[in-house]
Amino acid sequence: MASRRPFLAGNWKMHGTRTEAVALASDLRAQVGDVADRDIAVFPPFPFLEAVRNALRGSRIEVGAQDCHAEPKGAYTGAVAPEMLRDAGCRYVLVGHSERRSLFGETDDVVAGKVLGALRAGLMPIVCVGETLAERDAGKVEDVLRRQVNAALLRVSPDRMERVTVAYEPVWAIGTGRNATPAQAEEAHAFIRHLLTALFPAGQADRTRIQYGGSVKPDNIAGLMREPDVDGALVGGASLSAASFAAIVRYGKG
Ligand code: PEP
Repeated sequence: MASRRPFLAGNWKMHGTRTEAVALASDLRAQVGDVADRDIAVFPPFPFLEAVRNALRGSRIEVGAQDCHAEPKGAYTGAVAPEMLRDAGCRYVLVGHSERRSLFGETDDVVAGKVLGALRAGLMPIVCVGETLAERDAGKVEDVLRRQVNAALLRVSPDRMERVTVAYEPVWAIGTGRNATPAQAEEAHAFIRHLLTALFPAGQADRTRIQYGGSVKPDNIAGLMREPDVDGALVGGASLSAASFAAIVRYGKG
């Protein structure tokens, strides 16, 4: 099995001022800026991207955006092109977060277009998938994951897939304080890896990182990361405090 580098990401959503964002980045830099054995990224709101990038310059913490448009330019008022994000110093971009899907009406098709746009611009997309509670209760977890993963990744070429991370984020666990158990996460991650095996040439599924997201906290990260198919975490609420996100990043280090 390929050894996958752990990847811890903090989604700041629509929170904070520029001053608070820079202070959070600086605190984080002081606490985990030199951690070398795992990848770390933060996802501030668009207007703070460059300020946070500057605050983190020279550290090992990368910056990403929370969304992008699929197209490189055009008459899309209010939208941000992936190329613009590259220009602002982003390495990553979140695509298909459940809040984008449920609150902004993003369909599987829209998500697929954004994945291709992000890759074309040289970004590394984190593709978010996950079922609602109603879908879980109806026994549809695998159906939902199959539909979302296939739609988002079907048109991704094998060489570009090297730059894609998948985040399994059960909607019922996001911002609710109710995280999936390590066993529930592992079951879904193993299934996603199985889906990737069917989509890409041999070995790719083993190399693709799959993050878990949904109420990750300093006290549950280690248990999740012990699962063989859990390769990192996408963290919302707990990434807004440098102390708690740093503790998550440093899981297993004592
Ligand atoms: C998220 O929004 O991606 C997320 C996982 O949020 P939280 O950690 O707050 O559940």
